[in-house]
Amino acid sequence: MRVTDYFDQAKDKTLISFEVLPPLKGGSMQAIFDTLDPLMEFKPPFIDVTYHREEYIYKKRASGYYEKSSIRKRPGTVGICAAIMHRYGVDAVPHLLCGGFTRQDTENALIDLGFLDVQNVLALRGDARKFEGKFIPEKEGHHYATDLVKQIAAMNKGEYMDDLTDNSEGSHTNFCIGVAGYPEKHFEAPNMDIDLRYLKEKIDAGANYIVTQMFFDNQKYFDYVDAVRAAGIDVPIVPGLKPLTKLYQLNSIPRLFYIDLPDDLVKAISAAKNGEARRQVGIEWSIAQSKELKERGVPCLHYYTMGDSSTIQAIAKAVF
Ligand code: FAD
Repeated sequence: MRVTDYFDQAKDKTLISFEVLPPLKGGSMQAIFDTLDPLMEFKPPFIDVTYHREEYIYKKRASGYYEKSSIRKRPGTVGICAAIMHRYGVDAVPHLLCGGFTRQDTENALIDLGFLDVQNVLALRGDARKFEGKFIPEKEGHHYATDLVKQIAAMNKGEYMDDLTDNSEGSHTNFCIGVAGYPEKHFEAPNMDIDLRYLKEKIDAGANYIVTQMFFDNQKYFDYVDAVRAAGIDVPIVPGLKPLTKLYQLNSIPRLFYIDLPDDLVKAISAAKNGEARRQVGIEWSIAQSKELKERGVPCLHYYTMGDSSTIQAIAKAVF
């Protein structure tokens, strides 16, 4: 079923969903099941699976010189989606990137997903690769998520890249398309108004709902929703939530995701005596965030699990 149909069906009830990362290359599908098995009691209608493009690495050769090569550390998104749907009977939402894909690659990936009865995708640009200062699309690939949304929407209408494709039966795909939104602005955007203008382009191109970057201050989400609505966007806006449970995250989260952390959270994590106490602080913070968002009637609470099901389980138990 399409993600937005779940929202329509639930009416004012807040749903729950989860995001998982493919295991590191060489890892097993069991790691995903170990994360999800304990979370299925909360009956998520859909589960997102992230996509990871290849990264550049530098390998030291016997000669002493470093050689640049590339590696995908977390492949397997499509297979994981199929396995999740098979095991749990819930919908999987693969993330699909502009980065690393030509338009032809995208078309073929969407055909695979259609055959697997995947009905939802989260369309994203992806980040710059390490050692590249800015995002560089593939030759013949998409530069912005808007262009990817356009291609998916065109395929939903039975429009393929070439005239030779047999589309006499019309479209075989009907993807519900999600896109990313940033309550604290995407870091490359010169200002929030410009970021929202581009967000509107994604929606006008055919996107059906928005999932936000994580945030730790609900007011940022509420202000963002107001600004998005004022920009003329009326699709559901799903808050993305991640518990902050470790000391190093006080620096890594702002550095990697360009978001601010509230003073009270920083103080509480810093003052906690040990790892378990810090975890409890993070859980309590996330429970408070989740309860308030739920009371305000958000369509869904979307948790970034990062393989830590016991933390997410503790939060979900207190909220749902
Ligand atoms: P876009 O919407 O294309 O925007 C990127 C930047 O370009 C923004 O600053 C925007 O304002 C600007 N822009 C947009 N259109 C134009 C235009 N026409 N002209 C000029 N500027 C423009 N990354 C992964 O690699 N894998 C994942 O699985 C993944 N999952 C994610 C899930 C969520 C919920 C979120 C919030 C992010 C995720 N990301 C993932 C990270 C994402 O790929 C990065 O944040 C990336 O830098 C931007 O992607 P986007 O789709 O928001 O890009």
